[in-house]
Amino acid sequence: DETGALILCDIDKFKILNNTLGSDMGDLLLKRVAERLQNSTKSNSFLARLSANEFAIVLTGISSGNLANVKQQLLTRIYQLQEQLQQPYQLNSYTHLCSFSAGASLFEDSQLNAETLMTQAGLALSHSKRKGIGEVSLFHQELADAVTKRVKLEEQLRHAIKQQEFELYLQPQVNSIEEITGAEALIRWPQKNGSFISPADFIPLAEETGLIIPLGYWITERACSILQQWQQDPVKSTLQLSINVSAKQFQQPDFVEQVKGLIKAHAVKKHQLKLELTESLLMDDISDITNKIQQLKEVGVEFALDDFGTGYSSLSYLMQIPFDTLKIDVSFVRNMLDSEEKAQIVHTIIQLGESLKLNIVAEGVETQQQFDYLSRLGCSNFQGYLFSKPLPEAEFSKSNNSSI
Ligand code: C2E
Ligand code: CA
Ligand code: CA
Repeated sequence: DETGALILCDIDKFKILNNTLGSDMGDLLLKRVAERLQNSTKSNSFLARLSANEFAIVLTGISSGNLANVKQQLLTRIYQLQEQLQQPYQLNSYTHLCSFSAGASLFEDSQLNAETLMTQAGLALSHSKRKGIGEVSLFHQELADAVTKRVKLEEQLRHAIKQQEFELYLQPQVNSIEEITGAEALIRWPQKNGSFISPADFIPLAEETGLIIPLGYWITERACSILQQWQQDPVKSTLQLSINVSAKQFQQPDFVEQVKGLIKAHAVKKHQLKLELTESLLMDDISDITNKIQQLKEVGVEFALDDFGTGYSSLSYLMQIPFDTLKIDVSFVRNMLDSEEKAQIVHTIIQLGESLKLNIVAEGVETQQQFDYLSRLGCSNFQGYLFSKPLPEAEFSKSNNSSI
């Protein structure tokens, strides 16, 4: 007959401590955290450790009443707890600082069963973790709705892959005299009402669920088949086609074999197919990545570093990995003419690419001013609405001009 809350709390980046200072230190931290939890909660609270770095606290004795007040009380209690937990830890001779994320769900009387309560607090914690580190969230219905929506989208995605409901759109890439040199393939998921679900919405889900593997294969196969068709067309036979490859797809042990197989099956010529990789992919075992890239380069596949400058870019990757092309992300191009500093960044990226002998593509070019400015800085290739939006494959293939 009390109002209380289930709080789940999680030590942020616990794995890093384990991996750098060893699991003995990790164990020691867990013990210290447990002690602090015991000291800072009342004896009638229930404490548990649920998994490696996750603790549960059943907090009772929250006075009931107006819901907003109850929530405020709960948040205040959690912030106090968090503050205590985030004081430095003395682990032998090492002083450790860490942050804690938390998620909580309220209960009144016994309206909810334990399982529902655990699920709700879990959703709140996941929400906190998505926001960053040291975040606190209380469960609310939208969190559950978002999960339901995701599950539904996943189901639709599975179905769409089976039925091959996707289309590849092609966005032209041009050189400094606006001749088309190639295109980037961008996936579209058409809906019955004529609209599209944006790849920005479903690619991350496809990555999380592993569905990117069959989807990525379909994209590569389509691209190779388009390149095969272009061989019949004197204007298009020299164009390059770039496809986006997700980290998870690239990490598949048989990725190289699959791409090689498709290249062979569609008689794709050297330098026709280009794979765009993002910086997030480069966080893995660098020698494995370089090895895969080398094997594909041997059969004439080229590589572009996509979204350069937005991720954990490291200049050392750029030097170690034999990219052919560097793509300047749209976020740099968009604000480039706003200030001297922003323009300078783009200038520096172009110079960097030049000194590493990379071909440079600026993406998201929307205005003539941006095009002129980038050209003056020595950028050689361009992509963006100024030249063309991504076009349905048939429309792109129909055009028989070398410019748009
Ligand atoms: P991205 O690889 O950076 O692709 C460029 C995005 O910028 C595309 O969005 C493109 O339509 C858009 N864009 C092109 N020109 C302009 C412009 O002038 N102005 C602006 N504001 N935007 C422009 P899209 O097609 O919605 O794709 C979004 C992201 O989804 C892509 O970003 C890529 O990361 C991912 N994606 C798209 N297709 C695929 C795919 O086939 N496979 C994988 N793995 N990811 C894909
Ligand atoms: Ca791209
Ligand atoms: Ca990009």
